[in-house]
Amino acid sequence: MLLHLAAWPEVEDYLKRSTGIIIPIGSTEQHGPTGLIGTDAITAEAIGAAAGDKTGALVGPTISVGMALHHLGFTGSISLRPTTLIAYIHDYVLSLARAGFTRFFFVNGHGGNVATANAAFAEITAEAAGGIGAMPSNRPEIRCKLVNWWDFAPVKALSRDLYGNAEGMHATASEVSVTQYLYRDHIKPVPAAGMSPRIAPVSHFFGAADYRRRFPDGRIGSDPTLSRPEHGERIHAAAATAVADAYQTFVGET
Ligand SMILES: [Zn+2]
Repeated sequence: MLLHLAAWPEVEDYLKRSTGIIIPIGSTEQHGPTGLIGTDAITAEAIGAAAGDKTGALVGPTISVGMALHHLGFTGSISLRPTTLIAYIHDYVLSLARAGFTRFFFVNGHGGNVATANAAFAEITAEAAGGIGAMPSNRPEIRCKLVNWWDFAPVKALSRDLYGNAEGMHATASEVSVTQYLYRDHIKPVPAAGMSPRIAPVSHFFGAADYRRRFPDGRIGSDPTLSRPEHGERIHAAAATAVADAYQTFVGET
């Protein structure tokens, strides 16, 4: 059930059987010459929704803009500052905690969100427990967890089989395939001359201008010309199963 398609009495009923919720979190940022700018939000949303279908979990609205300051050298990218994203996650979670939700399971589509989301979780769990100096209490414990959909072993094995060392770190072949499966009408043509180099370079970077200088077309380590919608269907299915299992474990944990 998607929260934004539910009426409030349905959410009250849901809370009688579960206090868990799945929250997709992504980003709106360049994904190389052929990847959709919404890739990270699109993939997290679809995989989160599929995991919700499998488990009966409620799925919250997608956090579509994330921490992508290093992509701002490319037109169309949008970023929150880390402090803004911390405040956003804080307010989102505590609004629902007030109603009785206690288990917040974030399905993440963007590596750049991880550090900031975990900082937000630390703030939230401390505050929900009554603040940094609080004495132990019997109020319900708030727990937040973030999983990256591409990090599960079966998903990694599939992308390794399909793309080997051309999977890459950004504008990956697998994430582009998942968006091709979900939005076939928006598959971008590969430039006639291909991409150069075929597999993009890999290195560290400092800030948005340096990122663009080191990775002129936006990719890191990937060859998304290998992406196919049929691959995306398989990757999406593997990720949805793995995320659903991880969610069940998380909400079942004492
Ligand atoms: Zn991405």
